[in-house]
Amino acid sequence: MLDLAYECPKPKVISGAKADWELVIGLEVHAQVASNAKLFSGASTAFGAEPNSNVAFVDAAMPGMLPVVNEFCVAQAVRTGLGLKAAINLVSAFDRKNYFYPDLPQGYQISQLYHPIVGEGEVIVDMAPGVARRVRIERIHLEQDAGKSIHDMDPHMSFVDLNRTGVALMEIVSRPDIRGPEEAAAYVGKLRQIMRYLGTCDGNMQNGNLRADVNVSICEPGAYEKYRETGDHSVLGTRCEIKNMNSMRFIQAAIEYEARRQIAIVEDGGKVVQETRLYDPDKGETRSMRSKEEAHDYLYFPCPDLLPLEIEQGWVDEIAASLPELPDEKKARFVKDFGLTDYDAGVLTADVDSAAYFEAVAEGRDGKMAANWVINELFGRLKKEEHDITASPVSPAQLGAIIDLIAAGEISGKIAKDLFEIVYTEGGDPAEIVEARGMKQVTDTGAIEAAVDEIIAANPAQVEKAKQNPKLAGWFVGQVMKATGGKANPQAVNEIVARKLG
Ligand code: ADP
Ligand code: MG
Repeated sequence: MLDLAYECPKPKVISGAKADWELVIGLEVHAQVASNAKLFSGASTAFGAEPNSNVAFVDAAMPGMLPVVNEFCVAQAVRTGLGLKAAINLVSAFDRKNYFYPDLPQGYQISQLYHPIVGEGEVIVDMAPGVARRVRIERIHLEQDAGKSIHDMDPHMSFVDLNRTGVALMEIVSRPDIRGPEEAAAYVGKLRQIMRYLGTCDGNMQNGNLRADVNVSICEPGAYEKYRETGDHSVLGTRCEIKNMNSMRFIQAAIEYEARRQIAIVEDGGKVVQETRLYDPDKGETRSMRSKEEAHDYLYFPCPDLLPLEIEQGWVDEIAASLPELPDEKKARFVKDFGLTDYDAGVLTADVDSAAYFEAVAEGRDGKMAANWVINELFGRLKKEEHDITASPVSPAQLGAIIDLIAAGEISGKIAKDLFEIVYTEGGDPAEIVEARGMKQVTDTGAIEAAVDEIIAANPAQVEKAKQNPKLAGWFVGQVMKATGGKANPQAVNEIVARKLG
């Protein structure tokens, strides 16, 4: 059954030489668990440490060493599962995935093939206001990361750095519900946003703590709907898996390239072979890494060193009770409580810090006005200097005070921007600055009237013209604003000019 509470975006259609094709994409995202210690050892997970300095005996697979599961990492996986509205499995189990690699001293990776800790969930991927894709999550399992082989440090030797060996990863497997390159990137972005809200993964793609294997297939229009109705995968095209993508931009480019490659094969009468491919960002191409026939036979089996992982419902409930408000809920609340547009609410809830900043400004004030100031002035200014909201030189209290001065009619909107710039660069109490620098709005109609009289007296020719053409009154308003340094109340100026020009 198609259960789509949202208006779904249309799938991306690519026109081949002979027909139109749709894309079907499923992602396996590897998210590094935010934890100070590794999954089965107490070694540090700090990024950028001296090679081989964060390695416990068990990480180096010394004889007789036994893994001990890190409860915090398990809690992080449960937290992530709850954040993705997923089923939590009270009993899960660790398996050995056997293969040889120089940076894998154990000769196997401990993972969860048969009984993952998290079952089915979902992610709502927003594509435009009111348009979202519901991507189903199949499972999340916990596993160890491998180490790193370094081949470019010496002409004759390769090196191995085991710092990353044994770091906890969550592999988040989606169903093939993603229908285009932009959606794939937006899906990764949404996962990252949710995990950052939860504090379960830093989501730093450059450091490799969020990477994705991207499965891509093409099909004729209508095939995907048939799959959703029947659950039968075989109506979809054969997929290729693009390994280890760690950039949103490359994910999109790789999908686009891969879809066109498959279309060309099929339209040529050929068959897509299921295989693992690598994306080459320099060439903008994917190339074969290994085909299914030569794929590893990992000989998975239950890890004899670890008992099945049993957790209690009470513990899961405790974690559930400690979850923060998540992006979708926060966004909906901002729309409802502060009267914001879907778009503005989306911008303000992009990360927890921005949302908290906005709320502090909006508290007891006009929500839309607060949103405008935070998004247009503050974010714009911070972006110019590539500053994070946490490094904002203007505090919510200061920005709130500026807004209060506008609302009280003390300063005009134009002066408020000057005031904002002063507070941003020099700091200080906005009300005091306004007082000290004479920035107060002139609402004294007598003073405005005098200024208007002066301009009218000095420009008789303009007055004649304006009497013929009332639209020219704007010129007088501009002159008065100039003469008063932008401090005259614009509404009062407009009225007085109109009256005096008759
Ligand atoms: P396997 O059992 O070979 O590991 P899965 O069914 O678990 O395959 O799928 C692995 C990943 O590939 C999942 O993220 C899934 O969504 C995706 N996938 C499966 N079939 C397709 C398809 N036809 N096109 C694109 N992605 C697919
Ligand atoms: Mg699978």
